[in-house]
Amino acid sequence: MSPLRLVLASGNAGKLREFDALLRPLGFEVVPQKALGVDDTEEPHCTFVENALAKARHASAVTGLPALADDSGICVAALGGRPGVLSARFAAAADGSRSDEANNVRLVSELRGQRDRRAQYVCVLALTRSAEDPMPLIAEASWHGEVIDAPRGSGGFGYDPYFWLPDLGCTAAELDADRKNQLSHRGKALRALVDRLRGERLV
Ligand code: IMP
Repeated sequence: MSPLRLVLASGNAGKLREFDALLRPLGFEVVPQKALGVDDTEEPHCTFVENALAKARHASAVTGLPALADDSGICVAALGGRPGVLSARFAAAADGSRSDEANNVRLVSELRGQRDRRAQYVCVLALTRSAEDPMPLIAEASWHGEVIDAPRGSGGFGYDPYFWLPDLGCTAAELDADRKNQLSHRGKALRALVDRLRGERLV
């Protein structure tokens, strides 16, 4: 049987590799949305699940294919869950440019003097069979840690050098990619989605 094409509503090459590795054995061919002429859509919502669904529905609407999208970020307890869905744009400049470094500077400065350091990475995946799918598959996962004041490690990306894992005695940036994938919000959400997909009839 030929593989079922699934549009990935992301342009991130690393995500494409991760998703493809887990979904190909289940009979899916994961195609990046750009290859099918789909542009990024707005992420206007205040929850991860709404943004993930908006991205998946948009990719399904343009292509007529099933689509997979993810939305993720870091939620800090002492900041009432911020930056949350705004994690990538936490310290965005007026011209819209953004960087991990500026985001981390802002995070550390907002937590100065704060004793409660708890934070969680969150990832939500949404898979739509069609643009109007009334029963999209949703999978979500969290990864709990603490925000520290000085960076450690050079792996990962984003907030990883400041994301301390008390049980392991290191930051997420000090883990190798495989280990991070075993533990991370994204890895766990993807495996949960794969569990949901096994036995599901997608179309
Ligand atoms: P997106 O899912 O690529 O839109 O990521 C949203 C933002 O959340 C990223 O730009 C990072 O700032 C942050 N983020 C999400 N997942 C991670 C992670 O695994 N490590 C570090 N930062 C992350």
